Amino acid sequence: MIRFEQVSKVYPGSHRALQKVSFNLEQGQMAFLTGHSGAGKSTLLKLITAIERPSDGQVFIGNRDISRIKASQVPYLRRQIGVIFQDYKLLNDKTVFDNVALPLIIDGYGLSDITKRVHAALDKVGLHDKARFLPLELSGGEQQRVGIARAVVNKPALLIADEPTGNLDQELSLEIMRLFEQFNQVGVTVLIASHDLNLIQERGYPCLVLKQGQLAHNGLLREQL
Ligand code: ADP
Ligand code: ADP
Repeated sequence: MIRFEQVSKVYPGSHRALQKVSFNLEQGQMAFLTGHSGAGKSTLLKLITAIERPSDGQVFIGNRDISRIKASQVPYLRRQIGVIFQDYKLLNDKTVFDNVALPLIIDGYGLSDITKRVHAALDKVGLHDKARFLPLELSGGEQQRVGIARAVVNKPALLIADEPTGNLDQELSLEIMRLFEQFNQVGVTVLIASHDLNLIQERGYPCLVLKQGQLAHNGLLREQL
């Protein structure tokens, strides 16, 4: 589902953010991405969503080489990828329903389809009764669940999360992880960037470890820590 072949990224006027990174995340797998601040995690995620392009090497999503994808093709790529952020990135003047509906409105779905799908997504994250609330009327954990509902509402094959539990305590973090696992169990490929090594180790999923832009480890974390 995600394949990096010798991918390097050099930002203009800066050192290498990624250096010859290669890995393969199969369809239906769930994995973590970790490393110190500045190690290149965000850059790697930005290459997957084509916010950035590699300076060298190739990035494949599905079977498609997106290394030099045209701007006009990017919306089609993004439709296959649900993205979840540390700070939720919700529109605070819109209801929960409207926030989750947004990707469907952009994709041109009709109203009855939108209503059905938004309610289904809110059901999945346990927020059905909060559809009419505004984001700031919810707890942090609930806001993140809205972010997840928005990411899955158009049923993407791939979920990407950048520090999704960074603002949440341990218990809420676990809840969010269980949600990711539920989506993974129905076949969604999941990649989660996280600093939370306890959370990663406990779950027993493979982990990509970046160190100064290089892939230092790809597999279980247990033995090293
Ligand atoms: P540094 O020496 O640059 O401080 P660390 O050795 O602390 O880097 O590792 C950077 C991050 O990656 C840490 O979160 C660490 O736990 C993790 N890490 C580093 N190497 C491995 C490895 N081989 N397996 C698992 N995790 C690793
Ligand atoms: P992480 O997400 O692991 O903290 P990043 O991918 O954000 O790491 O950053 C990796 C390296 O690339 C850092 O040295 C960072 O300063 C640099 N970098 C990130 N984004 C940019 C940018 N837009 N322009 C220049 N340098 C950048």
